[in-house]
Amino acid sequence: MKAYTIILLMPGLNGSGILKQLVRGRKREAMKLTAGILLVILSTLAAKATGGDSVLPRELIREAGLIRLFSMVETSESINSWIEWLSEYQFEDQYVHDDYGWLSCILALEAVNCGNFGIGCILTNGEGNVVIQGHNEVFNPHFRSDRHGEMVVMDAFEDCYPEISSMDGFTLFTSLESCPMCMARLITSGVDTIFYLTPDSTGGMVHLIHNLPPVWIQLASRQTWGVAECSPEMIDASERIFLLNVSDLNDMLEDR
Ligand SMILES: [Zn+2]
Repeated sequence: MKAYTIILLMPGLNGSGILKQLVRGRKREAMKLTAGILLVILSTLAAKATGGDSVLPRELIREAGLIRLFSMVETSESINSWIEWLSEYQFEDQYVHDDYGWLSCILALEAVNCGNFGIGCILTNGEGNVVIQGHNEVFNPHFRSDRHGEMVVMDAFEDCYPEISSMDGFTLFTSLESCPMCMARLITSGVDTIFYLTPDSTGGMVHLIHNLPPVWIQLASRQTWGVAECSPEMIDASERIFLLNVSDLNDMLEDR
């Protein structure tokens, strides 16, 4: 089941991404995309054949991210430069969350590309498999004040897996420190561990956890909150992607 989730959430698997890349003259990227799709499919079939859950190695996470990157259309010059940087980035072994952080940044870039705040999130299970991917959806497809990245991911998870009653071993990665709304949601959800890439000194709540009401502090005490172990370059990327359009979108919020 877990192996299928990541596939269902990939926009490029219908083949349209490959076609678009070919049309745009990105033959090399299209070949990479094709290889990525095949790798994911073969891995899933192998997992099914053995009757077990597939463990997603870094290389498979990489292919999943590349599929997302090369499926982005109608991009701007700045988005294109980030697509190039992220597609060429090599995971650094000493940073254990570099792959999850990288995928979160790709999701954040997707969010920016469709007019939302540049924040991406993923949820992993106890085996380290990516169970759900999502990003901020406050403005697109239509205005929803609650559709922050963390909320999008937890909504999808709780709808897809109502039978799961314990969040032991689950980890949520977000490219930006969670706001008060999302922190309350994540506390209630019971997610075991929450890691963020970029600290948010002006909008984040995690560093102000001691200011929560006592019951919330008590509930949060069963969880681990902290900064993801990603390379400085990846953490810097998550911040710069968030900054691409945050000013314009904040103006739109203030005008409502
Ligand atoms: Zn939030």
